[in-house]
Amino acid sequence: MEIFKDEIPVYTFYVDEDENATLLCPVCRFEKTLDVKSFRGSKNSLRVKCKCGAVFKGLFEYRKTYRKRVKLEGRYAVLTREEHGPILVEDLSLGGVNFVAPEQHGVKVGELLELVFTLDNPWATRITKQVETTSVEERRIGAKFCKAYERDPDLGLYLMP
Ligand SMILES: [Zn+2]
Repeated sequence: MEIFKDEIPVYTFYVDEDENATLLCPVCRFEKTLDVKSFRGSKNSLRVKCKCGAVFKGLFEYRKTYRKRVKLEGRYAVLTREEHGPILVEDLSLGGVNFVAPEQHGVKVGELLELVFTLDNPWATRITKQVETTSVEERRIGAKFCKAYERDPDLGLYLMP
């Protein structure tokens, strides 16, 4: 293996609806939110030096609604009641998830759940997310993530088209 000292690591950051991207330092986890409006069309990457000394390249990804069809097994738990069960995640984006609850359930729209599921990437990354349900049609449930999507590097990497 050859290591090139001048190669700097590249990270993808997702641009939200207000055209802000939150840069997250891969070394010290320092965050900085940046208005990227002025870059659109001209520049989609930046060389960043963090206050901790880390240097990396930030790539800006505008396709925030990119949705991936998947088949990922997991579990759900309702945060405010004693209810949990298995799920099958059917599609995934940085903003939310659609899944099937194969067993009888009592989940309603607007409830807070915790989902745990495993990505089918080489590392079988375990994802734990708090979500708010936005649609319930029998066993099919849609939900949005409670926290800002652009701050999840594992999902960001998994969802890169
Ligand atoms: Zn840093």
